[in-house]
Amino acid sequence: MPAEDSQTNRPVQQMRECDLLIVGTGLAGLVAALASAPHLRVLIITKATIDESNTYYAQGGIAAALGTDDSPDRHFQDTISVGAAISNRSAVRALVNSARDAITELIAHGVSFDTHGDQLARGLEAAHSVPRILHSGGAATGLAIQTALSAAARSSAIEIIENAQMLDLLVEGGRCRGARVLATESGEQFECRAPVTVLATGGAGRLYARTSNPSIATGDGIAAALRAGAVVTNLEFMQFHPTALDMPGRPAHLLSEALRGSGATVVDRTGRRLLAGADERAELAPRDVVARAIARRLLQTGPGGVLLDARGISGGPPSVQFAALWRTLDEFGLDMDREPVPVSPVAHYLIGGIRTDDFGRSSLPGLYAAGETASTGAHGANRLASNSLLEAVVFARRVAELVTSDADWRGWEFTPARPIAVDARPMDFERPRLQEVMWRDVGIFRSGDGLARASAELARMAARPAATDRADQESANLAIVGMMSARAALDRTESRGTHFRSDHPGTDPGQAVANSYRLARKAG
Ligand SMILES: Cc1cc2nc3c(=O)[nH]c(=O)nc-3n(C[C@H](O)[C@H](O)[C@H](O)COP(=O)(O)OP(=O)(O)OC[C@H]3O[C@@H](n4cnc5c(N)ncnc54)[C@H](O)[C@@H]3O)c2cc1C
Repeated sequence: MPAEDSQTNRPVQQMRECDLLIVGTGLAGLVAALASAPHLRVLIITKATIDESNTYYAQGGIAAALGTDDSPDRHFQDTISVGAAISNRSAVRALVNSARDAITELIAHGVSFDTHGDQLARGLEAAHSVPRILHSGGAATGLAIQTALSAAARSSAIEIIENAQMLDLLVEGGRCRGARVLATESGEQFECRAPVTVLATGGAGRLYARTSNPSIATGDGIAAALRAGAVVTNLEFMQFHPTALDMPGRPAHLLSEALRGSGATVVDRTGRRLLAGADERAELAPRDVVARAIARRLLQTGPGGVLLDARGISGGPPSVQFAALWRTLDEFGLDMDREPVPVSPVAHYLIGGIRTDDFGRSSLPGLYAAGETASTGAHGANRLASNSLLEAVVFARRVAELVTSDADWRGWEFTPARPIAVDARPMDFERPRLQEVMWRDVGIFRSGDGLARASAELARMAARPAATDRADQESANLAIVGMMSARAALDRTESRGTHFRSDHPGTDPGQAVANSYRLARKAG
């Protein structure tokens, strides 16, 4: 007779056991799985098909200091200066020093990077002091990485289950023992039991309606980790990408920063450059600076008031250099070779996440995290462009290194973590309402009043019990992550990196620390 799940009273149909459970088949999950598979019985699950991930859509490339004009030290300095004084320096060191090995590993798994002569081609992106962005297919790097790694995983001993959504983590005796999973096609639930679980569930761009992220990016790993008692950090830092297509009825397709790296300019309707006077680095200023300048102008002009002009970029026209991107816009009736295209910022990358040490260990024994769902602190308060693909590879490899040698690790107490309670009066809500609150009050410009209002409303949304249907569960997860983000943003009474408070526009040196949170235990 099947066991019964205590939270839902639904029968748990089956139980699966493995040495290592990995949740998520993006870059971080697949790298961790491939590196662990020779040593452990690895089971990897994903709530969609294997390729559906943020990784698949990554455009510009992956940062690595490989040129003779470059060095890990230089990459370290660039990363630290963007991080706005709260970067975890040891994580940054690990990130930049391991870049060469990370690229070697991707190539070994079949990823093919663009070349220039007999060298790997290197692009320039904002706030990098030298060109160091390796790319594939122009600006289709994620597609190349995802398809190569998916193929490598399929031809390995790794067991892969698609359409299997982690609902919650199993916690017994103060340790993570795997996950409760929903088979999204049949509606049945099952348990995956493992002494070690790695969350590689990606980001939470779907907190906002205007986002570059695909539908899977709903913060599931962060929400499940919170419900299991783990500590999260840096959730006030959501990176908004400055230039996504802004055309009524069209998706907010990202226009890669590599375009600006090649000389594309941000202009108003008359063709005047917006950033030339705003920052000495102009279009190549850090993303938060460019995003705020564009958002400010759009508040004055309304939609369509800011355009990206890629005519005359160096290295050949967009249709040749960025062929995939050009084709997408061509389908929408826009010719980037001949005309500027309307842009506005979108929610893009969640800097915060499950707090981990430099080896991906969370505060909950048996639980690790890697990639966008984790927060190693390597990005500080602002991510340097193209460092996230690198982070996913580097820290997934470090997780694999540890779990294949030290699976009996007993936990790490991160202190202090502020306990945040959900409201006692649950509120039924639709996801668009949550996204509206996030965009209005926890968006590019924030204020104490707006954040307090958002925190209260999101706390009531987060009180709703988790559901058993995929979309509903995702909305419940977004509510928890949104609530934590709003609270963290409310508590940070200054502006730093991606977090901008209109009522506290300056940076306060006294707040140069990463803030951590956990869910308050229910009374009784
Ligand atoms: C349009 C776009 C362009 C980008 N361009 C770049 C770039 O040029 N350079 C760069 O460095 N970064 C870029 N990024 C960011 C980068 O792609 C991501 O940060 C990175 O790919 C994250 O990898 P990941 O493995 O952590 O997560 P993902 O690749 O998002 O994978 C998450 C996985 O977890 C699964 N999952 C989620 N929840 C559950 C659940 N409950 N149960 C089971 N499975 C679940 C998903 O289905 C997916 O398989 C870009 C992002 C976007 C969206």
